[in-house]
Amino acid sequence: MSRSDTPQRIRGTQDLFGEAARRHHAVVSAFDRVRGLYGFQRVEIPIFEATAVFARSIGETTDVVSKEMYTFEDRGGDSLTLRPEFTAGLSRAYLTEGWQQFVPLKLATHGPVFRYERPQKGRYRQFHQIDAEIIGAAEPQADVELLVMADQLLRELGIADGVTLQLNTLGDAETRDAWRAALVAHFEAHRGELSEDSLVRLDKNPLRILDSKDPRDRPIADAAPGIDAHMSSEAGAFFEAVTKGLDAAGVAWTRNARLVRGLDYYRHTAFEFVTDRLGAQGTVLAGGRYDGLIESLGGPATPAVGWAAGIERLGMLIDEPAKPTIDVAVVPMGAAAEAAAGGVIATLRRAGVACDMAYKGNMKKRMQKADAAGARFAVILGEDELARGEASVKRLATGEQAAVPLDRIAAWIGVETAA
Ligand code: ATP
Ligand code: MG
Repeated sequence: MSRSDTPQRIRGTQDLFGEAARRHHAVVSAFDRVRGLYGFQRVEIPIFEATAVFARSIGETTDVVSKEMYTFEDRGGDSLTLRPEFTAGLSRAYLTEGWQQFVPLKLATHGPVFRYERPQKGRYRQFHQIDAEIIGAAEPQADVELLVMADQLLRELGIADGVTLQLNTLGDAETRDAWRAALVAHFEAHRGELSEDSLVRLDKNPLRILDSKDPRDRPIADAAPGIDAHMSSEAGAFFEAVTKGLDAAGVAWTRNARLVRGLDYYRHTAFEFVTDRLGAQGTVLAGGRYDGLIESLGGPATPAVGWAAGIERLGMLIDEPAKPTIDVAVVPMGAAAEAAAGGVIATLRRAGVACDMAYKGNMKKRMQKADAAGARFAVILGEDELARGEASVKRLATGEQAAVPLDRIAAWIGVETAA
C-alpha cells in the first residue's frame, strides 16, 4: 500500500490505537488515582536535559549511559539527551527549582522515555513510564510507603497475583564496600568464564555483574556471595524496618540477596516486581533508595527513594479494558430534524450525557452505528415529534420507546441510567 517514499514509523516506537491505547490509558489512570490516595503530587519535567544530568547521576559505567542514550547536539552546540528515565531529571529540578523548601516531597509523573535498545516484545526505544519518588526522607517508612503504593497499583490493575516483589538491600557505604570486595574475589576466581562486558564491569563496577543478562555470566552471578555476611548493624536495622513495614501492611515480598539495580546510585532498599508472564522482559516495576544521587549532581546530601514502571509491560498484563461506550445516539430523520439535533446533542453533552451523532446516513445506518458504539438509548428526532416539541427515546436493549419533551431528555436519561 505505502509508496516507497512514505516515511516509516521509527524502529522501536509505537503508535497506540484502539486496544493498545486503552491498555495504556487504563494503567495511567489507575496510577493517577492511586498516587492521589497516597498524597503524591503530579509534576511535569522536560523530555530532554543536558547530557551531564544523566551521565553524572546514572553513572558512566551503566548500560543506560554507555549504550542506550539518545544524545545529540542542538543548534547551539549543547549536548542534550532525551530522558532515559525520570529520577535524574526530577533530582535536577529539585536542585534548580528550589524544591528543597518543600521536603519531604512526594512526586509522581509519567510519560515517554527513550533508550536505544534492541526492540522486542516489551522492549521499545520510546517507551513510557509511570514514576513515583520521595525526595528528602531518610526514614524507612518512605521506602515502605512507596512499596505499599506499588502493591496497591498492581492490585487495582488486577495483576498483583502474577507479580512477585523481590526485595534486597545494598546496605550503607560500609556494607556495600565490604560486599563489593567479596564479589570482586568471587568474580576474579571466574575471570576466564565471564563475558567481555562483565570483565569491564569487574574493573569499574563489579556489583553490576549481578545484573548481567548474558548467559555466560548468569551461573557465576547466581553463585556469588550475598550481602548479608557484610551487613552493618545500621544497614540491617534499616532493612528490618522496611520488611516489618511491608508485613504490617500485608504486602508479600521475597528476599533476593543478589538483586542489584542497574543504576549506580542505589543504597539500602532495592526492589523489583517481577512476573514470568512476559518472557525475558519480566521486570514490570523497579526502584530503590538513591541517597547518593543528588550529591552526584552537585547538590547537598539528600536521601531519596523511588520507583518506575513500564506502562507497556503493565498494559500487557492487565485484562483487556472495556471499550468506551456512549449513553445515547442521537438519530435525526430528515433535514429539519438534523438542524434541531445539533441543539439537542449539545444540551445533552453539557448535562454530562455521553452521546454521539453520525455526520450522515439514513435511519437504518444510524441505528446500526448506535449499536456498534454501545449506546444504551437512541434519541430519535422525527418531523412529527419535533413539531410537538418531543423526541422518541428508545431503550436499545428492549426496544421500548417513550415520547419525552425535548427539554427533559437529559433528566429522563439521567434517571434511567441511575436506575
Ligand atoms: P530491563 O532489565 O528490562 O532492561 P531496566 O532495569 O533497564 O529493565 P529500569 O531502568 O529499572 O529498567 O526501568 C523501570 C521499568 O521500565 C522496567 O522495570 C520496565 O518495566 C520498563 N522498561 C525498561 N526498559 C524498557 C524498554 N526498553 N521498553 C519498555 N519498557 C522498559
Ligand atoms: Mg534495561
